[in-house]
Amino acid sequence: MNCKKKETLEVVATVITTDNGILATQRGYGDFKDKWEFPGGKVEPGETLEQALAREIREELDVEIRIDSFVDTVEYEYPEFYIRLHVFVCSAVSGTPVLKVHKSSRWIGKDELHSVDWLPADELSIPVVENYFNNATWDKKSVMPAYTYFGTGKLSLIDKPVPHINNPKDAIVRVTLGSICTSDLHIKHGSVPRAMPGITLGHEMVGVVECVGSAVTNVKPGDRVTVNVETFCGECFFCKHGYVNNCEDPDGGWALGCRIDGGQTEYVRVPHADMGLNRIPDNVTDEQAVFVGDILATGFWAARISEIKEEDTVLIIGAGPTGICTLLCAMLKLPEKIIICEKSEERIAFIRSLYPDVLVTSPDVCKDFVMRNSRHGGADVVIEVAGSDDSFRLAWECARPNAIVTIVALYDKPQLLPLPDMYGKNLIFKIGGVDGCDCEEILKLISERKIDTTPLITHRFSLNEIENAYRLFENHLDGVIKIVVAPKC
Ligand SMILES: [Zn+2]
Ligand SMILES: [Zn+2]
Repeated sequence: MNCKKKETLEVVATVITTDNGILATQRGYGDFKDKWEFPGGKVEPGETLEQALAREIREELDVEIRIDSFVDTVEYEYPEFYIRLHVFVCSAVSGTPVLKVHKSSRWIGKDELHSVDWLPADELSIPVVENYFNNATWDKKSVMPAYTYFGTGKLSLIDKPVPHINNPKDAIVRVTLGSICTSDLHIKHGSVPRAMPGITLGHEMVGVVECVGSAVTNVKPGDRVTVNVETFCGECFFCKHGYVNNCEDPDGGWALGCRIDGGQTEYVRVPHADMGLNRIPDNVTDEQAVFVGDILATGFWAARISEIKEEDTVLIIGAGPTGICTLLCAMLKLPEKIIICEKSEERIAFIRSLYPDVLVTSPDVCKDFVMRNSRHGGADVVIEVAGSDDSFRLAWECARPNAIVTIVALYDKPQLLPLPDMYGKNLIFKIGGVDGCDCEEILKLISERKIDTTPLITHRFSLNEIENAYRLFENHLDGVIKIVVAPKC
């Protein structure tokens, strides 16, 4: 009996795309004489697939390539061995193909894929390549407009290179809709010291996956996705416990549009794409999904950690965009009463018209109002989303003894915790930045029509009007709640 196991050879191949078409090379000798193949070759021990591909193409064609996408792996069997072929799509970044090994090469059009006599391995990979081309809308642009932060008060729409895959866990997403968030204004005003001058702003967006690195398995080119505000590895201690905001990865936490280029542009590179991208269900539009990765994730997380019960009176302080998202998620917990505290007449009117069952009060009378509308001398749960000195004080003052007080707001300066005044109230404070790892569940709730944030979108701008959009948002003009920005209108 022959027990010898057949060896598996790891092989890489690329479809090099240009305006001329796809490059194929012809075998001039041996068993595969006169057959066409995608250029590539064997992976040597110790090489990554990407390294092997770059080396093979350099040796074979004298061209430096940029890997735009991993397409798929296909396997096939020879009598003596198995071949595992990893197919990529690349662009030539320098040099003109000069064939060193093969006698001829040919640029073929996408529609010619089936008119060529391919090697057996290529025949298997053609359907996956075809699928890539059918789904991808990569337009081969090299530069794109990007709204860029240059230091306090200095933002400008400039041309930047289209990003490409830097790491096998990356994906490139074509942004179809983004937003402006209050945190973008915090960066503009210099109150986010870790924001890096030169980065593209924007951390709330949806789009279409253009291409993915070889280690990405959850999404593929053509998928419509939400992009998470937080980058997280999914593997460290904090990620494993769901505390993704504290991910230990160098890019972990809020990186997009802060420490790495964000989404107020046409294309964005998303690290740890398997973690940070979620597929949008077919019955959910971009406008329905655009807040999933940031303010809606925040509202969902705030409602989750606040442990809301059906007999509770819940007080939410602040009816800005995040406050409204928190309200929508708190409503899903079906508490007995929800009270919103807000000072803007415009926003009070907005809440009254859309959510008539919600009780509304203003900061000056909030404490009395909450006492009258709760059974145990204060709210059972308080969620503070406003972020001022007064609202912080109001949050613990309006809470009943042993209440949970969740602080979602980001303050400009330190807050006083007057422990003697609070003594005996035994409050439970939960404080911090969103752990944005519930996006899949949120998308499901949107798909089931249980959450709808589209009423928050009061204004729509194209990317080339983004300066105007910032001016309107920053100055609270024209009843603005949220602005969405589309790269191509
Ligand atoms: Zn934000
Ligand atoms: Zn992590």
